Parts: sequence; structure tokens; C-alpha cells
Amino acid sequence: MKLLEDKILNEGKVLEGGILKVDGFLNHRLDVALIAELGADIAREFASCGADLILTVESSGISIACAAAFKMGIPVLVAKKHKSYNISDGVYTAPVFSFTHKTENIVLVSKEYLNAGAKVLIVDDFLASGNAALGLLSLIEQAGATAVGFVAAIEKSEQGGRALIEQKGVKVYSLARIKEMRAGDIKFE
Ligand code: 5GP
Repeated sequence: MKLLEDKILNEGKVLEGGILKVDGFLNHRLDVALIAELGADIAREFASCGADLILTVESSGISIACAAAFKMGIPVLVAKKHKSYNISDGVYTAPVFSFTHKTENIVLVSKEYLNAGAKVLIVDDFLASGNAALGLLSLIEQAGATAVGFVAAIEKSEQGGRALIEQKGVKVYSLARIKEMRAGDIKFE
């Protein structure tokens, strides 16, 4: 999506370790008009997928998930991040290694809100190595629900996450697909 690519070129900052900082419009201060456009694009792409729920993970995926869900007329389920294994019954859990923080979190959702047979579209801000996506897919599998797609606002192709998701038979859609990036030089697919 050109709008998002231009925003990344103008305001994104490439940090050490292959991290793209987009705090000015996506991760800290939110450009709500841009995020509404991302939501509309996602809703168009998945108009006929039959999704009845969007699953995202706190916190950076929430705004994009809400923009898409509003257009699609379906709710958003936000997977929570916990540091501990000491978690009560009534939840599905999966471990996720954080690319940005280099720590492992547990992501969890209440069994009450993720039902067998649900058709679930996953939405997140970034796709890098695919760990977050695999954790969310595990929650969906545990519930006996089906993933109808995985959406990332920004995909960093070099980090290889797409193949891991596609191996599970899940469609991957990203709004901006970065082929390679260095400080001051970002190239899209
Ligand atoms: P993955 O699990 O695919 O390696 O990474 C996805 C998660 O890590 C996303 O939920 C996102 O929050 C975070 N992330 C990965 N790469 C970046 C990046 O370059 N910039 C930012 N801001 N977050 C990232």
C-alpha cells in the first residue's frame, strides 16, 4: 500500500538488529487516519473470507485490528501477554519469543471468547520471524477454530516468517513488504 510505504520512507527509522521504528504513526503516537485506511484495505482483501473474529496480540496490533474489524462488522479478541507460567484454567496459552525484547512471553486468550468452529483472521503490526503468528495460530488450533488469514501491516521479508505461516496453509497478507533495510535505505518488494 503506497500510503503506508511513503509513511515508512518518510518517518520510519532503521535501528540496530533489524528493527524498524515506527513510533511516530503506528506504535506510540497513532496516525488514526492512516490506520483507518489500513483497516479498510484489510476489510477489502478479506471481504469474502467469512471471518467472524479478528485475533490480535497486545498492544501494537490492537489499533489496526480494530480498524479492520469495524469495517468488517466483527469483534476483536486481544491475546494478552504474561511473563509467568502460573496461569489459571479457562485460558488457551502459547509461548512466544519476542523479536524486539528478546524474551519469552506467554500469550493467552479466554476459552470463553475463542470458540470451536470460529473463523479467525489474525492481524498484527509486524511480521518478522513469525513467532508471534505461530503462537496465535496455536491458540486457534487449541480452540478447534480455523485461521482464515494472517495480516501484518509491515512485513520484513528477510526474517522469513511468511514461509512458516504458509506452511500451515494460512494465507499471508501484508500492506507494506520490506525486502531489505539499512539505515536511511529501505527497499520494498
Ligand atoms: P515475529 O514474532 O514475527 O518475529 O515479530 C512480530 C512481533 O514483533 C510484532 O508483534 C511486533 O510487535 C514485533 N516486531 C518485530 N519486528 C519489529 C520491528 O522491526 N519494529 C517494531 N516496532 N516491532 C517489531
